[in-house]
Amino acid sequence: FITFDNVHKRYGDHEVLRGIDFEVNKHEVVCLIGASGSGKSTLLRCVNALEPIQEGKIIVDGDVVSGPGVNVDQLRQKVGMVFQSFNLFPHMTVQQNIAIGPMKLLGVSKADAVDQARELLNRVNLGHRADYYPDQLSGGQQQRVAIVRALAMKPEVLLLDEITSALDPELVAEVLNIVRELAQDGMTMLLATHEMSFAREVSDKIVFLEQGRILEAGPPSQIFENPVEERTREFLKQVI
Ligand code: ATP
Ligand code: MG
Repeated sequence: FITFDNVHKRYGDHEVLRGIDFEVNKHEVVCLIGASGSGKSTLLRCVNALEPIQEGKIIVDGDVVSGPGVNVDQLRQKVGMVFQSFNLFPHMTVQQNIAIGPMKLLGVSKADAVDQARELLNRVNLGHRADYYPDQLSGGQQQRVAIVRALAMKPEVLLLDEITSALDPELVAEVLNIVRELAQDGMTMLLATHEMSFAREVSDKIVFLEQGRILEAGPPSQIFENPVEERTREFLKQVI
């Protein structure tokens, strides 16, 4: 569903992605792992055109999305993204945060958008917080709202960038549970995470990045139990 074909990304002279090739198939969960600065966030940001690439192609659902003339609104409807810092609109209630996208960008009526927002909030056990403002919620609750806000746009794939990194440890599980449920429902997802045990459990494929290159990719059983590369082994030894 997403194809990376020889993707190169530079910031000035600094080449941050150096020839990335892999695929995320429909209904697959793929995890990007790797040291800080290895290019995980950059790679995710290139998929929904938050960053341009200088060489190669990114193809989403059959369309090249990395070139000129891409319809960014259409792309971002198809490709939802959730960030480490929840990025909710502070002056809107939880319900408004979720309803605004479908109303403004999909032409959904206010009544339908609100109904959908309520339904999504119930799904993540936040029905009772619909009329709260983001700063009245815990970090874990805000992140759950950010996830359902992305889902309200009915994306075909979700990009999740370190969505638990800013959370207190006791709030991590409630957010990971949602991702786990989405995976069980067949949602296509590409995520960057430092939560190795979660990556291992939820992923169909792990992609290990080092300095902008894929050092090793494969099913979690290979990467975690039987890595081909010595560097993968060393990295995992440090983080687990
Ligand atoms: P982390 O695990 O810390 O989130 P990461 O794997 O997500 O790291 P990126 O944020 O993708 O890493 O950064 C990859 C490299 O690109 C880093 O060397 C970083 O300094 C550089 N970089 C990222 N954004 C920019 C920018 N806007 N301008 C210049 N360099 C950047
Ligand atoms: Mg990052």
